[in-house]
Amino acid sequence: MATVIEIVVQNDLCIGCGLCAALCPQGILTMQWNRFGEYNPVEISPCIRECGLCLKVCPFADSEENEDTIGKQFYGEIPGIRHRLETGYYLASYVGYSEEHRLSSASGGIATWLLEALLREGVVDHIICVAPTGDPERLFSFQIFNTPDELRTGAGSAYYPVELSGVIRQVLETPGRYAVTGLPCFIKAIRLAQQRNKKLRERVVITVGLVCGQLKSKHFTEYIAAIAGVNEEGFRVLYRGKSLDRSAKDYHYKFTTKDGVEKRIFWNEGIAKAWMNRWFTLGACNYCDDVFAECADVTCMDAWLPEYILDSRGTSLMLVRSPKVNEVIERGQEISLDLFPIKWVVQSQGGVITQKRQHLAFRLYRNRKINLDKRVVPARSRNPFLRQEVVLKERMRITSRDLWSAGETDDEHLHGAMESDLKRLAPGRLLSMIIKFLVRTLWYIQRKVNLG
Ligand SMILES: Cc1cc2nc3c(=O)[nH]c(=O)nc-3n(C[C@H](O)[C@H](O)[C@H](O)COP(=O)(O)OP(=O)(O)OC[C@H]3O[C@@H](n4cnc5c(N)ncnc54)[C@H](O)[C@@H]3O)c2cc1C
Repeated sequence: MATVIEIVVQNDLCIGCGLCAALCPQGILTMQWNRFGEYNPVEISPCIRECGLCLKVCPFADSEENEDTIGKQFYGEIPGIRHRLETGYYLASYVGYSEEHRLSSASGGIATWLLEALLREGVVDHIICVAPTGDPERLFSFQIFNTPDELRTGAGSAYYPVELSGVIRQVLETPGRYAVTGLPCFIKAIRLAQQRNKKLRERVVITVGLVCGQLKSKHFTEYIAAIAGVNEEGFRVLYRGKSLDRSAKDYHYKFTTKDGVEKRIFWNEGIAKAWMNRWFTLGACNYCDDVFAECADVTCMDAWLPEYILDSRGTSLMLVRSPKVNEVIERGQEISLDLFPIKWVVQSQGGVITQKRQHLAFRLYRNRKINLDKRVVPARSRNPFLRQEVVLKERMRITSRDLWSAGETDDEHLHGAMESDLKRLAPGRLLSMIIKFLVRTLWYIQRKVNLG
């Protein structure tokens, strides 16, 4: 029987979550960096049992399970639950922030507040989330925290590869109730693993998802560090620095060198170009159709809507699926959180939805070899700008990966290699910016009128 290495890793579909390595009954898989700065499982000895468990828990293996079937299993029977194609199941949706947390958090600090509340109220004993390590070889990792003070060290977003194998092994060894944070595909992997492992089912009692547009390799961070003027190893990075005189969208990455020198680089100084054009994005992200972490008990995201973007301190949106989490939220006196219409939550992630629906349909159409049963039907878009965007961004993604891994780490060189593709994208981008501006203005007016 084929393993996750042949079916997933060798087809560039591995997101590096590490569930296969954590659950392999022979213990023959270990997570290692590949040459592109992404985590992959590696076999340390040959697979002899051929149980196929590694494939069954992989979020990017072709399986009968998808976010719809998993979501239905966990949330389909909850009284009052509703469903939308873009979001999956939801019980309630909110907008707001935690004044105490928002400045040190990615958005409105609601995720860290919630994790603390879960600990404080005794809903869980341990929190598994991502925090800096101090190790130059892996700047961030999943860690297990037992107190609010500890878990605050993880506030903020890590746009960096992290893998779950180590912490999941600890969960299997140490009884207790755990909450875990994760990107949509990581939460899906946990759910697939819970279906096959009783201890995980009993011990991971809350899952906190993050909306995700794409995951970047560690070379992305090295590239942004280089254009910020940090070329040596051993730096620390904060991805969501906030400046009170700028909008929430215009955040900065702050790099701190070993000698304590701080360098800031803002969204429009090079981050946006690499982010929006999918430089250093993982191949698996090309085939993701889950925007809102549909398998998670609650999903947190940025309030990317005009009326909130102006507030540089950050605002969160939240989609809740679990009644238990909703009760904790309803008891939260110290936060500012209001119910918020689901259609506006969907609008806030318009760009990611386009990526994971229309762009995905065209990617599947272009790459028929990919044997994945997604919830999007392969289709050749009739929009020539969309087709061009998908093709050019994929070429830039591959070029960025190849050049950096070949040691071509000079920005001018990298930029030179992308220049003609960037130029060809410009007219379509201008047109789409005008359309987006008009649509968002209409939405904004509509929301203002409705809020009346
Ligand atoms: C790779 C990535 C892409 C994202 N894309 C989008 C997007 O397109 N649109 C959008 O609205 N939001 C996106 N987000 C989510 C957004 O950046 C915030 O994480 C979210 O809004 C929560 O903010 P907060 O202030 O409530 O959380 P915080 O209070 O900052 O807490 C965040 C929690 O998440 C944990 N965490 C951070 N990074 C990771 C990670 N990589 N894996 C697992 N746990 C992690 C932290 O340890 C912390 O516990 C993305 C996040 C990541 C990591």
